[in-house]
Amino acid sequence: MANAPLLMIPGPVEVSPAVLAAFGAPPPGHTAAPLIEAFGTALARMREVWQAGPESQPFVLTGGGTAAMEMAVANLTRPGDRVLLVATGYFSDRMAEMLRRQGAEVVTVGAAPGEAPEPDEVRQVIVTHLAQGPFQALYATHVDTSTGVRIDPAPLARLAREHGMLSIFDGVCAAAGERFAMAEWDADVYLTASQKALGLPPGLALLVASPRALAFRLGRPDPKPPMYLDWETWLPILRAYEERRPSYFSTPATNLILALAVGLGEILEGGMEARFAAHERTGRALRAAWSELGLTLVPARPELASNLLSALRYPAGSAEISATLVRRILDRGVAVAGGLHPAIRDSYFRVGHMGYVTGRPDLLRRTVEALAAALRDLGCPADGERAWAAAEAILAAPVG
Ligand code: PMP
Repeated sequence: MANAPLLMIPGPVEVSPAVLAAFGAPPPGHTAAPLIEAFGTALARMREVWQAGPESQPFVLTGGGTAAMEMAVANLTRPGDRVLLVATGYFSDRMAEMLRRQGAEVVTVGAAPGEAPEPDEVRQVIVTHLAQGPFQALYATHVDTSTGVRIDPAPLARLAREHGMLSIFDGVCAAAGERFAMAEWDADVYLTASQKALGLPPGLALLVASPRALAFRLGRPDPKPPMYLDWETWLPILRAYEERRPSYFSTPATNLILALAVGLGEILEGGMEARFAAHERTGRALRAAWSELGLTLVPARPELASNLLSALRYPAGSAEISATLVRRILDRGVAVAGGLHPAIRDSYFRVGHMGYVTGRPDLLRRTVEALAAALRDLGCPADGERAWAAAEAILAAPVG
């Protein structure tokens, strides 16, 4: 698209030229050798990107992040199960609704928009409820895209282990950008979608299940999950791909699988620590720029701010600012997103900065300059040069 805006929403995101080339290749059949090779390669690479153990099981489904959420819920939670949900925004609320539809009893530990419950609070709720019976699982959203709030999954996974619960993390707006060490933290499911920090077009739901989670599902044969979501359906198919044998249950999105193998390869090139560091540096640089522009974050404390997106409050002033800022930024060639959390929707907007753009300071600069210019249009004092200089100083600092 000649005039496509720079895509700086919190997903879908800009993709690399190599990913785009794989996605744009003539579609292979689902039993063609190049597809089998790409699928097998992608599954092995998922374990590395997830930092999961060799016995963990990756799943890839055609669908969005919501399908990955459904897959986790359908395989691990049954009617009557009691589950604990750490709620930090719109996508945690979606998970709660899914769990209720599944017939689970959901106990929520929540926080005001921009905040997150402390692990001690979560522990307290687990302990308080123990008299009424055990919790089966803990569900949490690593980064809630509606507020930009990031939780620390490690202590929550630990708490779950201590209390015999499975731990399931929605990493749709985090995986491959925010640190997640699945094996080290002993987490049970980490799920995502292709269109965020994995840096692919939308269309794939991805998750990795721990050996414990897999055994739990296989040890609970009935009632079976819907066939398309059932891990048991997919296991022989995915094992065949890893052994480079053709197999079929439902036609995969073949071009996305080609792109997945390439995209995961790019992520692993410099190692996961470098990947996380690039996102951390980008997040910090842009936060410095926003601060120069007089913008403040929705996350209440610096440690809660995700490095993958910025949720920014509209500056005080006329109603015209909140009504038109996003469109004015788009008029300058950069797509950003409006608010999403229902309680604060009209008071903030969101800028995504994950995947490919973390290696493209020129694109980050365009974003900062478009924001500054749009703010100036609306009468806000905003110096784009100074804002970019603040960001650039961080991006240019030696790594380490
Ligand atoms: N969870 C989180 C944290 C998300 O950010 C999103 C998408 N923005 C989803 C789940 C749902 O993903 P999808 O839109 O691909 O279904």
